[in-house]
Amino acid sequence: MIVGVHPLAGFDKLLHYQVPEGLRAHMQVGSLVRVPIVNRMHLGIVGMIGAPDDFPVSKLKNVTQLLHPFPALTPDLLSLARWMAAYYACGLDAIIETMLPASVRNGAGLKTEKQLALVRRLDVPELETLNRRAPQQAKLYAFLAQQFKPQRKSLVLSRLGITAAVSNALVKRGIIREEERRIERIAYDDDWAAGEIVAAHPPALNDEQRAASDALAASLREGKFGVSLLHGVTGSGKTEIYLHAIHDVLEAGGGVIFLVPEVALTPQTVARLRGRLNALIPHHGAVVWHSHLSDGERLDGWLALATGEKRIVVGARSAIFAPVQNLRLVVVDEEHEPAYKQDETPRYHGRDVAVMRAKLAGAHCLLGSATPSLESFFNAQNGRYRLLQLPRRIDSRKLPDIDIVDMRIEIMRTRGMTTLSRQLVGAMRDRFEKREQTILFINRRGYSSSMLCAECGHVEECEHCSIAMTYHRHDEQLRCHLCGAERPAPLRCPKCGSLKIRWRGLGTQRVEEAVRHVLPHARIERMDTDTMSRKNRFREVLAQFRSGKIDVLVGTQMIGKGLDFPNVTLVGLVDADISMHVPDFRANERTFQLLVQVAGRAGRGDRAGEVVVQTFTPQSEAIQFSRHADFAGFAAGELKMREQFLYPPYRHLIQHVFRGPNPEKLQFFAEQWARKIEQTLGDKVELRGPAPSPIEKIKDEYRYQLWYFTAQVTKVVAEIAKLRQDFAWPDDMIQVLDVDPVSL
Ligand code: ADP
Ligand code: ZN
Ligand code: ZN
Repeated sequence: MIVGVHPLAGFDKLLHYQVPEGLRAHMQVGSLVRVPIVNRMHLGIVGMIGAPDDFPVSKLKNVTQLLHPFPALTPDLLSLARWMAAYYACGLDAIIETMLPASVRNGAGLKTEKQLALVRRLDVPELETLNRRAPQQAKLYAFLAQQFKPQRKSLVLSRLGITAAVSNALVKRGIIREEERRIERIAYDDDWAAGEIVAAHPPALNDEQRAASDALAASLREGKFGVSLLHGVTGSGKTEIYLHAIHDVLEAGGGVIFLVPEVALTPQTVARLRGRLNALIPHHGAVVWHSHLSDGERLDGWLALATGEKRIVVGARSAIFAPVQNLRLVVVDEEHEPAYKQDETPRYHGRDVAVMRAKLAGAHCLLGSATPSLESFFNAQNGRYRLLQLPRRIDSRKLPDIDIVDMRIEIMRTRGMTTLSRQLVGAMRDRFEKREQTILFINRRGYSSSMLCAECGHVEECEHCSIAMTYHRHDEQLRCHLCGAERPAPLRCPKCGSLKIRWRGLGTQRVEEAVRHVLPHARIERMDTDTMSRKNRFREVLAQFRSGKIDVLVGTQMIGKGLDFPNVTLVGLVDADISMHVPDFRANERTFQLLVQVAGRAGRGDRAGEVVVQTFTPQSEAIQFSRHADFAGFAAGELKMREQFLYPPYRHLIQHVFRGPNPEKLQFFAEQWARKIEQTLGDKVELRGPAPSPIEKIKDEYRYQLWYFTAQVTKVVAEIAKLRQDFAWPDDMIQVLDVDPVSL
């Protein structure tokens, strides 16, 4: 037997080895093996079974170890790895490395311990004899006879003060047994459920939920690849649809992957899922998969899935690579979230990879959102995905009213800077009196976005990056949000010495200050990455908010995602314009999503919700359509615009970023390269650029970018990957290819 192995050794190659007799039984494609390369041992994944064409078989070395009797990469994962390597122009070794937890790649195994358990009970005469002849053994017997489950040997011996000889004697007589048991380190995160009431028994589905759920069940019964897009307004009960589908799949012996945009932000999803599934199918605990796990927890979760002991995993982006057996269903919740895209190599999109994995596994993929991405919606419109809709909230609760406040008028009335409009302040006071809760969103941390000299117009920028520094008032510092550089905020303009310094643009700190000013007796908490640096702080604050110990929560979008707080009746979006005026063709889409999602946090309980949106551009489409959460209307207009310019989803976009210390050199080589592409691929791609990136300098490094628009993405990526290997790049220049970027 000969196998081809992809070594995990930092290069992308397939090497062949002989498989000795003893290792053949469980050797298969996807197996994790240890092999010699030159004089060192490396781990690798078996990529194929069979001999190489061009190498004498007799000279092949032996595989030295097979780490698990099951494949580390299931066949669908291995195919997925190959697809990703080609689609994202990335080495297969880098993809395989991303797919396997570090502990698996290090060859770590199960952690086991010795345990003792009773085999049979003694009758009275036997017990008396034992007491008399071997009091130590009797002591051990008595202890184990009281236990319901096996006990850790080391603990029992030390607690009773006896030696292993004593337990060995009882084992030999067949009264107790000793066994090697796996230690469970699977993270259950039970504390996540804190404060969340989990209804173990499913509510009766309403008519729309029933229709969607039945359609989905029919697709699942087909047992082949397909994609459904569940478009349900906020609070329409999408989770119930997920749960029903998951339940059916688990009951039929299938496996499930459930993706959420950021596990740390959606504890309630995990709690709901777990509460319900534990009640319906005991012992089907979900494996949790996210970046806060220890290596041991991650390894055990991985093993539980790879061995088929557990069949469902819940987690962020990378959980799409979990070795779930017999995968039948992949759920992607909040599928529109840009957080699904990884912003380092490999730059994959979790949702797109989810669809592809489902395809390769012959499973169903369920995408859910109140504001689907235009890519997914487009696929539903042209019949590639099946569209399931939940157009109403549960119990016909009203979607909240959205009041648009025109801040141009507000500022004229107050003759100056206004953080909170009179309308918003009035509504907040009203809630405070009624003991109801308010959430204020402002998508920028810090106090204000920039320091402007009213005399000469100077704006303080970071010396390493080409962006304005943000003012943090509590410690009177200017900070760069890109590189973290900081310096004391100047009292005078560094350029002209004027004292007329103005703070432009709102940040969370300034909003918090404004709230304290208008509601001096309210309990106010701010939630952004500045205040949430401590690991559990986030959960604490959310638990306090849930239990009503906080009246007003001020935060960045990190608090805007999918949270369900029934007592929140007012949501304010302090500056709706931040996401709109960025040089990105998705700016409108992002703004619409933000508005609808944020509004969806209000009025989820029995009382109606109200939303106040402050903006300087009240007439813009994103804002107008969001008033009635009119996704269809928004999508129709936006898709028309995208079609006109042939932007995604009508064509694919690939971004090529060039980075280096010397801007002239960057420009020169970027232009040379662009010319080469134009010559060789000119009929398949439309080029834009090269041009300086919107933020031209980050951490003293300059950036140029080039965009390729194409309808033949696979072909073009393959060509570019080949061409760029042969191109003579200078040593101090880095270039990064990003296929289907989510932000520009
Ligand atoms: P979405 O994810 O669509 O915003 P959720 O799934 O969070 O909505 O559901 C909103 C609320 O409605 C939850 O508290 C959920 O338990 C409840 N719910 C869902 N379906 C029903 C139903 N059929 N009957 C009663 N309550 C339901
Ligand atoms: Zn000045
Ligand atoms: Zn900087």
